[in-house]
Amino acid sequence: MKIAEAAARLGVETHVLRHWEDMKLVVPERTAAGHREYSEEHVRRLQIVQACRGVGVSLREIRHVLHRGEQGRDAVIDRRLAAIRRQREELDAAELFLRHVRQCRHSLITRCPECSAYALRR
Ligand SMILES: [Zn+2]
Repeated sequence: MKIAEAAARLGVETHVLRHWEDMKLVVPERTAAGHREYSEEHVRRLQIVQACRGVGVSLREIRHVLHRGEQGRDAVIDRRLAAIRRQREELDAAELFLRHVRQCRHSLITRCPECSAYALRR
């Protein structure tokens, strides 16, 4: 398939796929006329790159993630896992804060130790 169709399958602009090609992440075949030709295998690979981007893995890091046994692969994944855990903790704290504020008995939340504790954390 042509680049426009592959891009449409992913819901991205064609320049994204050209960029990923420049980064050597997904390099399509070329027709005799020199046009990019993506196979289903390429699309699958594009989808995996997109999924990696979705979980915050940088394009530079993705190359390490795509191949098992790649140098630095575990370190890249462990960094993302640690970041995701931090984000989860942040979200849990934000949820607790908002749930508390909803039923906070202080007339001014600036006078509530619990409300202040969230604002002053870190
Ligand atoms: Zn409060």
